[in-house]
Amino acid sequence: MLLEDLPQSLSACRRCATAGYFIGSTPIVTLHAGAVFMTVGQAPGRQEAEVTHKPFSGPAGKRLFRWLAQAGFDEAAFRATQAMTAITKCFPGPHPAGRGDRVPSRVEQALCAPWLEQELALIDPQVLIPIGGLAISRFLGNGQLMTGLIGERFERDGRILVPLPHPSGASQWFNVPENKARLARALAILSELRKQVG
Ligand code: SF4
Repeated sequence: MLLEDLPQSLSACRRCATAGYFIGSTPIVTLHAGAVFMTVGQAPGRQEAEVTHKPFSGPAGKRLFRWLAQAGFDEAAFRATQAMTAITKCFPGPHPAGRGDRVPSRVEQALCAPWLEQELALIDPQVLIPIGGLAISRFLGNGQLMTGLIGERFERDGRILVPLPHPSGASQWFNVPENKARLARALAILSELRKQVG
């Protein structure tokens, strides 16, 4: 498959609905040929599904781009040139307990995994930014807690990985001073990479 054919194929995907899962949107990704950086989140949220149809464009996205701005990235330029995707690419609906969004099941993650593989193969980004526990465990899953990985740089399959926490306002992670320092280290790594390869 060619990269220019991927959005149309992806937009026709109904794998999760066919498997009986609630799906609240069509796939929401941004894919640019030649992207050096690729963010990989968990799944789109309600704002992305119902209003903007762009990855990370709700409240969590605003926080993410505030972080990326600290690393020297301009949001408009990043959206126009880099790649933004997710472990599952359709809005999974609200969490049954009413707090935040439903976490995609392992079955949904597996159903969507071939799309992520194709994105990686067709775009071949030099730097992956897994955002949040689900994406971090997909690329760096080795039984470690996410916290121990933030602020570090990794190499896998010829790519550099710089994990970030999920920028959801619901997380208490950011209130811990050590975690603020970890996030600052991660952004400093991304700033260096932007100067080197961006
Ligand atoms: S989440 Fe992925 S596999 Fe499931 S319907 Fe959307 S694009 Fe298809």
